[in-house]
Amino acid sequence: MTDTSPDTRLFSGPVTFLKGAVAIAGLPSDDLPEIAFAGRSNVGKSSLINALFHRKTLARTSNTPGRTQELNFFAVGPQEDPIFRLVDMPGYGYAEAPKKKVGTWTGLIHAYLRGRSNLKRVYLLIDARHGVKATDTPILDTLDASAVSYHVVATKLDKVKPDAREAQIERISDAVAKRPAAYPGIIATSSVSGDGLDDLRAAILTAVS
Ligand code: GDP
Repeated sequence: MTDTSPDTRLFSGPVTFLKGAVAIAGLPSDDLPEIAFAGRSNVGKSSLINALFHRKTLARTSNTPGRTQELNFFAVGPQEDPIFRLVDMPGYGYAEAPKKKVGTWTGLIHAYLRGRSNLKRVYLLIDARHGVKATDTPILDTLDASAVSYHVVATKLDKVKPDAREAQIERISDAVAKRPAAYPGIIATSSVSGDGLDDLRAAILTAVS
């Protein structure tokens, strides 16, 4: 019997950059399941996306705000018949970004999250060292208000001392536990050590299937 369900080999296969959308009008069609990655700038989002897909330059690392105002869409799977889309969202909370620009891309993030029918899950990245911060609140509120299912992913776990990890993971879990659209539990990852990457890949495959 042939098993045709998507498996983790998808993450080593073709991933194609489709487009960077700067406005809701420029989004690709909503005919494929989508997952989105969101988080504060510098949370480790680009590194995590690159590590998940076993490549170095899929998402740009150490972005400057001028380059990160777009919703970047990637098709995962064979080019002629992709399985799902990945959306790399602009990082938020960048202290030095000009206010007007922040307003434009914050508006885009929130409009996308509120109105995307094929959006299966948002992976909301939280730095394992710092936990959930006030700058994360607006996006958490939008996700809850729009009933968009989201799963919190802790990043940079290698930067937390091994004996402090459990408590830190619990602290982050607790911070979102009462939120209505939060997926129970968090996935703790490190792009450097590879911790949690297989768990995250498995979670993504479940979310899009
Ligand atoms: P982004 O702005 O969210 O896309 O964050 P980047 O992926 O550009 O990462 C920001 C900084 O954190 C860079 O210097 C990365 O090398 C570093 N970084 C990202 N992920 C990890 C990780 O898992 N462990 C460690 N130690 N550093 C990381």
